[in-house]
Amino acid sequence: MIVVDRLSKHYRAGPSTLRVLDEVSFRVDAGEFVAIMGASGSGKSTLLNVLGLLDSYDAGRYLLDRNDTRALPDAASARLRNAVIGFVFQSFHLLPQKRAWENVALPLSYAGVNRRERRARAHVLLERLGLGERVDHFPNQLSGGQRQRVAIARALVTDPPLVLADEPTGNLDSDTTREVLGLLAQIHAEGRTVVLVTHEQEVARAANRIVWVRDGRVHADESAA
Ligand code: ADP
Ligand code: MG
Repeated sequence: MIVVDRLSKHYRAGPSTLRVLDEVSFRVDAGEFVAIMGASGSGKSTLLNVLGLLDSYDAGRYLLDRNDTRALPDAASARLRNAVIGFVFQSFHLLPQKRAWENVALPLSYAGVNRRERRARAHVLLERLGLGERVDHFPNQLSGGQRQRVAIARALVTDPPLVLADEPTGNLDSDTTREVLGLLAQIHAEGRTVVLVTHEQEVARAANRIVWVRDGRVHADESAA
């Protein structure tokens, strides 16, 4: 699903260069549940954004679902992203002026699905995630855990084979954290590939494998027994 080979990315700050990703190599097979773990500032979000085709890289190779992402024009990159990836973020990234179901349905409008069908599919998913009574609520009428479930429904609405989650429990209390990790485990059990970024070992334990990042480099890769 993911093949990364000596991938590097840097930021230039005046005369100095910050190597945010420094020859990172690893692969994730279809159906894996992997946590990318490391301290704050180690480059996890940058790596996940590159994997999600939200950010560019400067050197190395990245194959996503067998597609070489290096020379992809923006439109092709957006198409690939929309077809393959669902995203979940720490701060939910819901549009405040849209109802829960409209937020969930958003990726479908980019995919050209008509409104009636969008609404139907969003409703089914929200129902499944226990938010059947909340489909017409706005984000500020929902709790943090409910908002993250809406965001998870949005990530799943295009039925993507790969789900990327950046600190998805970072803004949640421990009960809601357990709930969201349970949902990610369920998403994995459905046969999807899940890559979860976290700085908390508790959270990383939900995965079957942990890739450790430090100073933009992968320094350990361990599979759970
Ligand atoms: P993490 O998610 O592990 O906390 P990030 O990937 O967000 O780490 O950041 C890694 C490093 O890259 C940090 O030192 C951060 O300050 C730096 N960084 C991130 N984005 C930018 C940017 N747009 N410009 C310059 N430096 C950045
Ligand atoms: Mg981060």
